[in-house]
Amino acid sequence: MDFELREEQKAMRKMMRDFVEKEVVPHVEEWEEREEFPRATFQKLAGLGLFGMAAPEEFGGNPVDALTSAIIYEELMRGYRGLSYLAVHNLCLSIISRFGNPEQKERWAAKLARGDLFGAFAITEPNAGSDAAAIRTSARREGDDYILNGSKIFISCGGEADVYTVSTKTDKEKGAKGISVLAVEKGTPGFSVGRTEKKLAMRAYPTRELIFDHCRVPARNRIGEENEGFRILMSGLDGGRINVGAGAVGNAQAAFDIALPYAKERSQFGQPIAGFQAIQFLLADMATEIQAARLLVYHAAWLKDHGLPVTLAASMAKRYATDMAMKVTVDAVQILGGYGVMQDYKVERYMREAKIGQIVEGTNQIQRIIIARELLK
Ligand SMILES: Cc1cc2nc3c(=O)[nH]c(=O)nc-3n(C[C@H](O)[C@H](O)[C@H](O)COP(=O)(O)OP(=O)(O)OC[C@H]3O[C@@H](n4cnc5c(N)ncnc54)[C@H](O)[C@@H]3O)c2cc1C
Repeated sequence: MDFELREEQKAMRKMMRDFVEKEVVPHVEEWEEREEFPRATFQKLAGLGLFGMAAPEEFGGNPVDALTSAIIYEELMRGYRGLSYLAVHNLCLSIISRFGNPEQKERWAAKLARGDLFGAFAITEPNAGSDAAAIRTSARREGDDYILNGSKIFISCGGEADVYTVSTKTDKEKGAKGISVLAVEKGTPGFSVGRTEKKLAMRAYPTRELIFDHCRVPARNRIGEENEGFRILMSGLDGGRINVGAGAVGNAQAAFDIALPYAKERSQFGQPIAGFQAIQFLLADMATEIQAARLLVYHAAWLKDHGLPVTLAASMAKRYATDMAMKVTVDAVQILGGYGVMQDYKVERYMREAKIGQIVEGTNQIQRIIIARELLK
């Protein structure tokens, strides 16, 4: 195996690290305090081509391989987990650019890739989370339109985004085989947005309800064939899981990078706490587990880039890396003692952000189900 990154991957890592240092780190606490979506910062990411990672070049896209994508998310999440909105946007764009017809691509793909439009992705409902096929939002055909009724919850950047890929039942009798995807534009009559959820972490990353009340969506906005939506929505999951795992590696690395120098500087009982074996062993385990997770993530990305089966490796990487980040960030807080729970020292924020990774993109219980299914099939 070749563990050396290509020159352009090294350059991308450097570009992302510089961006995070300059454009993100100085502002995160203020964004969090004000619970304000940093749209201007995302526009700058769009300027770097990152809004078009999921679009082909003909639509202004800037496609990157899975390993480069993992490096990007690892670096961004070292700064702030709220930047994971980029993944949501690219998921929306990927659905349109892979399954949309030429007219739909013309209408949305290039604008999304440039950052002229922001995308979002809506599956989850009050009664349908892990069981994504249990959705109740329905779309009834009426002439050239669908009449969309129902609601979605926990939607990242709901209200901020301009285009939403929405899962809906078009045949209530058929479960997963009765689901379609509709692209719904902001401002469509009958489409409104609920309150902003107050949440544990990523407070500058709005999470909102979407409400569809007799919302008339042109049938030409359906992405892919009718009742083919579930397959479309599930098709991007392996890549998404690798990216979530990569973000968790960055999240844990950031907390470690605070804890290590702190342990060398903080003295108790007349010596730096790094001199106590109890602290040394914590640091040793943290560094080992971060690296183990990084290798699982990079290996899964490598499999994807070589066109090899990746479902098992992607779920292992997501599960392990996000559980690792939870443990490492808790230990980082422990190393800082009382200072660790104070906002100024930032490790408590990384700890709160780590929890989200265990829940999104398929909870870690769901990852274990997938891993077991792959092993037993
Ligand atoms: C910050 C944030 C942003 C999000 N953004 C979006 C978004 O943009 N778009 C979107 O559509 N959704 C989004 N979600 C929703 C997210 O995808 C769901 O929260 C997730 O899929 C879990 O669903 P749930 O919350 O309903 O939990 P549930 O599915 O109700 O699960 C509750 C618990 O039961 C466990 N469980 C469920 N089924 C099983 C099983 N078969 N075996 C064992 N254990 C099981 C779960 O692991 C979990 O521990 C977001 C969530 C968060 C927190």
